[in-house]
Amino acid sequence: MRRILVTGGAGFIGSHLCERLLEYGFEVTCLDNFFTGAKKNIIHLLDHPYFELVRHDIIMPYFMEVDEIYNLACPASPEHYQFNAIKTIKTSVMGTIHMLGLAKRVHAKILQASTSEIYGDPQVHPQTEEYWGHVNPIGIRSCYDEGKRCAETLCMDYLRQNKVRVKIIRIFNTYGPRMNPDDGRVVSNFIVQALRGKELTVYGDGSQTRSFQYIDDLLEGMMRMMGTKDDVAGPVNIGNPREFTIKELAELVLEMTGSKSKITYKPLPQDDPIQRQPDISLANRLLDDWKPMITLEEGLQKTIEYFKETIKK
Ligand code: NAD
Ligand code: UDP
Repeated sequence: MRRILVTGGAGFIGSHLCERLLEYGFEVTCLDNFFTGAKKNIIHLLDHPYFELVRHDIIMPYFMEVDEIYNLACPASPEHYQFNAIKTIKTSVMGTIHMLGLAKRVHAKILQASTSEIYGDPQVHPQTEEYWGHVNPIGIRSCYDEGKRCAETLCMDYLRQNKVRVKIIRIFNTYGPRMNPDDGRVVSNFIVQALRGKELTVYGDGSQTRSFQYIDDLLEGMMRMMGTKDDVAGPVNIGNPREFTIKELAELVLEMTGSKSKITYKPLPQDDPIQRQPDISLANRLLDDWKPMITLEEGLQKTIEYFKETIKK
């Protein structure tokens, strides 16, 4: 049976991934320091005979015999990754070194959860993997953007120097049930604000764009990437190319929740990217015709249901 380590496994994406891997019959170890993740995300898995939970911080080395590593540990929302910026860089850089070191030692494959933030505030649209990006190295988002860029560098150097089998995916804005309602990301913010009858906080004039991917589409892309031949390292964009302005998203959430909330405008945070849309032709070619299957309307419906239940509790 394949043994799989998921770092950041108690977070939003990690908890869904652990669940999916167990469904496929793998043995899963979830490692997390619970900074932004929570036990409640994986509590339903604790009795599973092939699930194991380890409280550990990846800025410290970790050793176990394992066949595959999904390296997801890292706070992902601007609010949380800026809360302790130095820790965020340590997680991306030292944490990734430790996971790559482990992969090297036990001959495991490793998938790195990289991000569309690699492209910064992109001047090429839509973003292809060849684009090197437009990132401010000293701004408030840099701890995350540059940390993740360095993590990609490390992956490629471990591949070139030590022949570690690395797989890099660049994840574009992903949403779904189990997002942390307090982490400040736009989809969770708007839904929770709408359900509570509070004003929806649009930053700037709301004309900036994002392309939103539902969690199930990401999981499919991620697992297919792990299953590619050893000579496929990426990076590969995984996202939904349908692009929306933030104002359109706010209006859609209001319509779908039937909320009477109003929209209020707040200042745009520093270095907030103006546009973002993945070119997914590489993913489509390498990952057996992978493409997102779930529309924003379908995904939002499921996410709204989840937050309704959470708020009730
Ligand atoms: P999340 O905050 O819900 O999950 C991150 C998890 O990592 C949490 O459980 C947290 O406690 C854990 N963690 C953080 N630092 C750690 C450390 N030093 N040691 C051990 N565990 C640690 O965020 P998410 O949305 O699930 O993101 C998961 C990964 O995917 C992150 O690496 C993120 O950068 C990447 N990603 C996510 C998105 C997205 O839209 N959700 C987009 C691009 C990339
Ligand atoms: N945003 C917003 N209101 C909010 C939260 C976010 O208008 O309450 C905007 C934010 O400025 C950005 C976009 O929504 O332009 C996506 O923000 P998020 O933090 O979800 O992700 P990221 O900026 O990392 O793509």
